[in-house]
Amino acid sequence: MFDLIREGGHELAMLCHDAESGLRAVIAIHDTTLGPALGGVRIAPYATDEDAVRDALRLAKAMTYKASLAGLNLGGGKSVIIADPARDKSEALLRSMGRYVQVLGGRYIPGVDSGTTQDDLRVLALEADRVSCVGADPSPFTAAGVHAAIHAAMRHLHGSPELTGRRVAVQGVGHVGAALAGLLARDGAELVLSDARMDLAEAVAGQLGARTVEPDQIAAVACDVFAPCALGGAIDDAVLGALDAAVVAGAANNVLAEPYHGVELHRRGVLYAPDYCANAGGIILLAEELLGHDAATAERRVRGIADTLDRIWRRSRVEDLPPESIADRMAEERISAIRRLGPPPVPQRGTY
Ligand code: NAD
Repeated sequence: MFDLIREGGHELAMLCHDAESGLRAVIAIHDTTLGPALGGVRIAPYATDEDAVRDALRLAKAMTYKASLAGLNLGGGKSVIIADPARDKSEALLRSMGRYVQVLGGRYIPGVDSGTTQDDLRVLALEADRVSCVGADPSPFTAAGVHAAIHAAMRHLHGSPELTGRRVAVQGVGHVGAALAGLLARDGAELVLSDARMDLAEAVAGQLGARTVEPDQIAAVACDVFAPCALGGAIDDAVLGALDAAVVAGAANNVLAEPYHGVELHRRGVLYAPDYCANAGGIILLAEELLGHDAATAERRVRGIADTLDRIWRRSRVEDLPPESIADRMAEERISAIRRLGPPPVPQRGTY
């Protein structure tokens, strides 16, 4: 266990057990150099305890990078509850989790993840002082961030963010994908939509005057932008073989099935918006809410995703490295610079 934590550079992995509620959970904190560790609470029936620990550690580290690159004063954390969300979720389970979160005194701030809802976080908040995702739905902000990323890609390639007549293929029209499609339709983009639930795709397409294709066809659509907004691993060997897009920019996490898929996109000259940069709109909203700021401030900051991508792509071109490698470096550079500052100059005991 300690090898795992040392290799990942994590600060903490806490195992939580409560016999009464049946809680078995892991809270992982990767790095709090920039601020308290924000990250969702995932509920999933892991096959082994080690799978749960590994998942929590991996996801916590990803949150550190996401918050750093977005310029937020937050660190990275994540927690997992080993349970079936459909069967095992109860008020007692969630409140028990909230008590463990409270033990950490605000160093870990939980949010929504797969298996939890905003209502679940409201239950956690009965026990823990600092909880996110209890206000506005972050999905429209995530969509606005991806929209900004697509504009930035157009500007990078064509000198103008203009989308009129450009074709965008959207994979998955759930919370984020449908909102993104709406924004793109207003821009005059030609939309091709798909979803594992084709009834959903047809309904959104009907509203926006778009066309649909079957889920196994969407990655092969000849288009300016392929926007993966469904599950992770959207770019794998099969998709790479079929992809006919100039840009890949979407909301999904872990878009690249393996790192070499990103290297291959770069080699082919396909402009990739690193997933955790393009989909940072939601976390930007959550950070602004924690600071007590309004939605307008969050919207302004979400538009800043375009500038971050611009810096990533320019550096990617100069250094001839894939954008996701540059994004990782930029996130690490910011953390290192702040770490070197040392502790803030607070008055010491007895000096005031
Ligand atoms: P969602 O569950 O509302 O929507 C996902 C949609 O994808 C569903 O309609 C589902 O039917 C569809 N889908 C699943 N498999 C598919 C496939 N193989 N082909 C086509 N469609 C498929 O989720 P969401 O909140 O819209 O999030 C979309 C993605 O963005 C997820 O990967 C999520 O992790 C990521 N993300 C979301 C947010 C947010 O604010 N909601 C923030 C950051 C990242």
